[in-house]
Amino acid sequence: FELRNEDFVDLRDLGAGNGGSVKKVEHTPTKTIMAKKTVLIDAKPSVKKQILRELQFMHNCHSRYIISFHGAFLADPNICICMEFMDKGSLDGIYKKIGPIDIDIVGKVALSVLEGLTYLYDEHRIIHRDIKPSNILCNSRGEIKICDFGVSGELINSIADTFVGTSTYMSPERIQGAQYTVKSDVWSLGISLIELALGRFPFSQSESDSEDSDNDSDLSDYEGTLSPRPAGSVQLDLAEIGPLRPRRKKSEAGAKSDKAKKKEKRKSKGVSLQGGGMTMSILELLQHIVNEPAPRLTPEGRYPKSAEVFIDACLLKDPDERQTPKDLLRHEWIENSRFSSVDVQAWASTF
Ligand code: ATP
Ligand code: MG
Repeated sequence: FELRNEDFVDLRDLGAGNGGSVKKVEHTPTKTIMAKKTVLIDAKPSVKKQILRELQFMHNCHSRYIISFHGAFLADPNICICMEFMDKGSLDGIYKKIGPIDIDIVGKVALSVLEGLTYLYDEHRIIHRDIKPSNILCNSRGEIKICDFGVSGELINSIADTFVGTSTYMSPERIQGAQYTVKSDVWSLGISLIELALGRFPFSQSESDSEDSDNDSDLSDYEGTLSPRPAGSVQLDLAEIGPLRPRRKKSEAGAKSDKAKKKEKRKSKGVSLQGGGMTMSILELLQHIVNEPAPRLTPEGRYPKSAEVFIDACLLKDPDERQTPKDLLRHEWIENSRFSSVDVQAWASTF
């Protein structure tokens, strides 16, 4: 069925990210509810056609762990990608609403993401490249699926023209410029799982407070700290990387009015993570990821040992030591999660 923009009616906004915005829509000829993502592409018509051709590949992806694809079309200057609508939304939205997610559910999330990644890589040699809570979706049937994977090299390039594809879920080796591999996705999964279990983004002040302060890379040495609230992804604007901005003195920052801070944030175009009136630049966060020990599922003992061990395995800083998604499907915690009787559908009915 050929999808055309005229055949959709908007039902509601589902959210917006750096690449575009997503709406719940109805495809009226077929009465199908879908999620329609609109991405503004500033490229030549030939490039847009190429992107559309590459996106068609998603028609070949069939897995219960992958969002299904209805089609993509050009609504110049936008490209629209129509996919399965997941009525419980993404896991970042869920934990922001209900708080930390029970570790048994997190185990089901880990299992589903590993299955999805293994399917994409083994069947199609696709690396996801953007695993994070906002790209893991849930529905009221209790299904957990991943979306927004890197099928179209041209699409990745077109978005990278305006943004460096840098996010805080990025692995140390990627920050240092190495190629993407399936193991980079495993790192991002580890960070995401801690975020779900803790109900907050894992790189935070409280973490650095417990460390030795006599350390060059200690967060407290910086202008400010990360928000204790989940920060999500942060994109770097190329123009902002140029000469690094000298960091502001803490006292100076404290003296600024809220209005001034907001203005400054706007000016920095999302380069800084901001929370509690303090900021830490994305570059400092990236440096922290590279130089400091990886975050862990803490406090020790609160969670099953096998979960702690699994997260540690995802967050091995050396990609050569880190296992692939397929290897990790055989991990004790994942095998336990597979046979666990926890009812994701019942859980999803509580929010
Ligand atoms: P980024 O652009 O950095 O990847 P993001 O993933 O939050 O961030 P989008 O991919 O544009 O940005 O998605 C915006 C929001 O729309 C998501 O956070 C999610 O809650 C919602 N969403 C995306 N796809 C679907 C879908 N298929 N069904 C239901 N909700 C969806
Ligand atoms: Mg997304």
